[in-house]
Amino acid sequence: MNLPTHTFQKYAGHRQKMIEEIMNRGIKDLRVIEAMNRVPRHLFVRDSFHHKAYGDHPLPIGESQTISQPYVVAAMSAALQLTGEERVLEIGTGSGYQTAILSELAAQVFTIERVKSLGQQAKQLLDKLGYTHINYKIFDGTYGWRELGPYDAVLITAAGPEVPQALIEQVKDGGRIVAPIGDDQGQELRVYTKRGKRFSMKRMGDCFFVPLIGKYGVPEGE
Ligand code: SAM
Repeated sequence: MNLPTHTFQKYAGHRQKMIEEIMNRGIKDLRVIEAMNRVPRHLFVRDSFHHKAYGDHPLPIGESQTISQPYVVAAMSAALQLTGEERVLEIGTGSGYQTAILSELAAQVFTIERVKSLGQQAKQLLDKLGYTHINYKIFDGTYGWRELGPYDAVLITAAGPEVPQALIEQVKDGGRIVAPIGDDQGQELRVYTKRGKRFSMKRMGDCFFVPLIGKYGVPEGE
């Protein structure tokens, strides 16, 4: 990572406490824990929130969107069971924090954001931090990114009524999709594993995400 040592060390104590919290909450995947220990989360929120960046809660990132809470980032990343070889598609770049964690865990990351300013800001920061194996797109992610697929794993960071069909088609056999499913009345995190034409599904518990707005998600303005 291309970062002056003092910038990284600034919140080392806060970051250590965040790691202890996510481990206490049951995250055991050492690769995920190490990734979260390497990425300076405070840089993904605006300056006035730096001191809050490592608390276990979401924070606003502008455009009515949020950076997900550390435990949720850890749990979703662990559920993908990445080994370092994979090509991962992320829907909802947001601040780019989850994108950075994924790129610490996989070979290549493809990330789509529908809000141009957020996507551009995230790319700028991730470029600066030296993440070179990320592909960016500003578009409606409910279509996926068919030209560059198929993917070993898909992570959706906004909630819709179901996993969009295009994303199901773009996952390899044996691949996983992690997604929040539901609306503002209730949501749960789910892990799907593709087995031929079928999927097995595991529930990970309740959650609350911003809506997956798009053609095969939640209509804009709802
Ligand atoms: N993973 C992000 C992070 O670490 O900051 C958090 C993302 S935030 C909870 C969800 C993001 O999904 C928002 O930035 C939102 O604009 C984006 N989003 C919602 N619908 C989308 C769609 N159809 N395609 C792409 N991005 C979408």
